[in-house]
Amino acid sequence: MILPIYIYGQPVLRKVANDIDPANYPHLKELIANMFETMYNADGVGLAAPQVGLEDRIFVVDLTVLADEDPEFDGFKKVFINAHILERTGDIELMEEGCLSLPGIHEKVPRENSIRIQYLDENLQPHDEVYEGYKARAIQHEYDHLDGILFVDKINPMRKRLIKSKLSNLMKGKTDCHYKVKTLK
Ligand code: ZN
Repeated sequence: MILPIYIYGQPVLRKVANDIDPANYPHLKELIANMFETMYNADGVGLAAPQVGLEDRIFVVDLTVLADEDPEFDGFKKVFINAHILERTGDIELMEEGCLSLPGIHEKVPRENSIRIQYLDENLQPHDEVYEGYKARAIQHEYDHLDGILFVDKINPMRKRLIKSKLSNLMKGKTDCHYKVKTLK
């Protein structure tokens, strides 16, 4: 089932999400399937639970669509439950990002090149892994959603001033995207 994507201005996007208790979380598999379906429908490569209105530490990533550029992304489809980044290391790199909760906005975002993250996968198996490059970037973008952080918080202040009207339009519910959204107004 395709879920509406919460748009910039929705308070849930600013909440710090909580770890879930997988044993007492109804319909977890269904939620994960719905998150992937919602993400694919919107042509995204990642989606975090706050973007569908939930204050839970869950996000999904699928970079397979980028495999044409680099085969390392082929089949990189992952679920992160109760995710916690332990370390961010390496050089800070600038690269353009977008976000399904901020349609129409693309800006260069500085991020560390390498992360170490602990999480449970969709079968509730624990992992402690290191990711680098674009994988680390995509994971950090989604992970930030769990801490109420959006990529526009990290951009150059001058660029942020330049997109101010775009942001206020999103808060007023003015969006023009092809997927189902839930705006503040
Ligand atoms: Zn995002």
